[in-house]
Amino acid sequence: MATRPDYYKTLGVDKKATPDEIKKAYRKLARQYHPDRNPGDKQAEARFKEISQAHDVLGDPEKRKQYDSGSGPFATGAGPGGGFGGFGNFDFDAASMGDILSNLFGGSTSGRRVRTKPRAEKGADLEAQVSITFDQAVAGAQVPLQVPMHATCETCRGTGAKPGTTPSVCPRCEGRGIETQGQGMFSISQPCSQCGGAGTVIEDPCPTCQGSGAVRTVKRMRVNIPAGVRDGSRIRLAGKGEPGRNGGPPGDLYLITHVAPSPLFARKGEHLEVEVPLTIPEALRGAEVKVPTLTGTKTLRVRPGTAHGTVQRLRGEGPPKLSGAGGKQEKGDIHYRFVIDVPQKLSEEQESAVEQLSKTLDGDPRAGLFHNGAGAQGAGAKSGATQAGES
Ligand SMILES: [Zn+2]
Ligand SMILES: [Zn+2]
Repeated sequence: MATRPDYYKTLGVDKKATPDEIKKAYRKLARQYHPDRNPGDKQAEARFKEISQAHDVLGDPEKRKQYDSGSGPFATGAGPGGGFGGFGNFDFDAASMGDILSNLFGGSTSGRRVRTKPRAEKGADLEAQVSITFDQAVAGAQVPLQVPMHATCETCRGTGAKPGTTPSVCPRCEGRGIETQGQGMFSISQPCSQCGGAGTVIEDPCPTCQGSGAVRTVKRMRVNIPAGVRDGSRIRLAGKGEPGRNGGPPGDLYLITHVAPSPLFARKGEHLEVEVPLTIPEALRGAEVKVPTLTGTKTLRVRPGTAHGTVQRLRGEGPPKLSGAGGKQEKGDIHYRFVIDVPQKLSEEQESAVEQLSKTLDGDPRAGLFHNGAGAQGAGAKSGATQAGES
């Protein structure tokens, strides 16, 4: 006795559902189980087929009538295998797939083929961590790398079958990848329990990979780190990931860079910053000071009266900017931040020199901090009195 799938149950709608309700239920489920949303998920794929099959019948008034009355292709005992022969081999070709997709998403789509046969799959993307020095990050480097990954089994070339044998069509589902259990109104379709939905079974597994078609290896490679990467940069190396299956393209490899800090240069976005200490006389009278660059040294002219924290920049002396693809690569700047070196201890001679200095530099730099321009030192009481008098 052939089984009769319950299309109403598949779509989760009532037997008296309106065409609109059926359409809505179908769209919701189809979106959820769409193969593009569930790549590699055989169960979702099988479910999607059932949903599409149910909609194919219930969404068509004529077919729905026949289904409801059990007539036409739905008559029990009809067809060579009895029952649902006509609809059992629900065929997913690119054209009908395109129709479904354009109905669903209202536009052009990839029109991807859904089959139970092994399909070409892109290899997995991988991620690896790379530790490099500050200089390597600035100049770029080629570094050796060992990446553990799955590789296609050489013995069976990825088929999983022992050399000289080929996977055979699954006897349980006859290659469809789906099996239907139960009877009449209560049948359930699910991925084939024998082949897991692949539609084929391996009778003689490859001895090297035990039938999986893949082996774990550590791939040794040399990778080029572009100049200008930072700590935590993510670099995509196209096609350096795991090999694809069944002729699919390889995945990508993502490198996360760990850059050792420099004792001198600190990253500030696309620029670098260096602290340059100045003596008090240098800050007062100005000076010419030698500063480090990425390639050597340069001389900076410090203006007389340079304040603590003043920044001078050398444009284009910094690290390359990563954004520039091709052509002349732009570079960031180096920011030189002057900090005034204040001695923690003074000799007697310095002490008397400071004493001399304080006699001439005796203004009040904090005058502006207080109301009415009143000075800070000893002026508090007076200032209060003045304010009280004025208000
Ligand atoms: Zn099977
Ligand atoms: Zn193998």
